[in-house]
Amino acid sequence: MELAVYGSESLLAEGEELILDIEQRLSVTDSSSEIAELNRNGKAAVTSETESLLEKALALCERTDGALDITVYPVVRAWGFTTGEYKVPEEIDLIDALALVDYRKVKLDSGSASLSPGMQIDLGSVAKGWAGDKVMEMFRQRGVESALLNLGGNVQALGSKPDGSSWRVGVRSPSGDGYAGAVEISDKAVITSGGYQRFFEENGNRYHHIIDPKTGWPASNGLLSVTVIGDSGIACDGLSTALFVMGPERALTFWETQGDFEAIFIMEDKVVITDGLADSFEPLGKYADMKVEVQYRDKD
Ligand code: ADP
Ligand code: MG
Repeated sequence: MELAVYGSESLLAEGEELILDIEQRLSVTDSSSEIAELNRNGKAAVTSETESLLEKALALCERTDGALDITVYPVVRAWGFTTGEYKVPEEIDLIDALALVDYRKVKLDSGSASLSPGMQIDLGSVAKGWAGDKVMEMFRQRGVESALLNLGGNVQALGSKPDGSSWRVGVRSPSGDGYAGAVEISDKAVITSGGYQRFFEENGNRYHHIIDPKTGWPASNGLLSVTVIGDSGIACDGLSTALFVMGPERALTFWETQGDFEAIFIMEDKVVITDGLADSFEPLGKYADMKVEVQYRDKD
């Protein structure tokens, strides 16, 4: 966690506390969390905060037609991503796990949440973006005009830099060598999902932690990473995961129909950015020598 707040030192500690508190409430691995209880019992009382997060997360699952699915957890577990005991699952185990995946079966009813038998949820795809939104909201209410939060791949900015200029946010190179580019933004979330963040190798193949809920296998479609830029941290977090699952063609078609975000798609041999970033994205390192394609909404 990296947090900078301009104008108030005490808010720095409060911001940190808020993030740790949200993490504790949402963690699937912390057995005392509301989510762990829901997964254990299939039903749990949830605070209004958690209920509102679940509502927003389920709306993102719907909006992305299930490319994002918070009930994919049994599959994530079958691959060992929760414990670090990585393995390519047996086909039969994958089929069993996949049968439990369907976000439409998560029910919310004023203060309680319930799941179908065996089903488990995991908010890892949206929790950091949500936590960022909450911190920024708290800062804003307390009169902060400038702050920057970085939660490993999730950058969220409140306002501009103290001197009034834009923040310059780096987008990591998926191959681990520094930055692929930088964007200039103010008051936005810049959130990246990539197959390079968590993965294992077996028999010469690489398997990463973002799963296509339709197949149960790590998404494999030519995308190395997707960065989503917009006002809402939770939306950018959910969408970066979902667009990574959709793959370049579907993701760009999806973007064309939506009005609330911009995106950077990094592939082996090129970078594609959406037109709203044409003036604010700068490719770096080896990407500076590559083709940067700009995708326009109303191209003929
Ligand atoms: P990170 O947490 O590494 O920044 P993401 O925001 O993309 O990355 O979230 C990935 C996490 O979400 C995985 O670790 C896994 O727990 C969960 N997950 C994997 N695939 C999906 C999916 N298709 N829909 C929802 N959650 C997913
Ligand atoms: Mg995400």
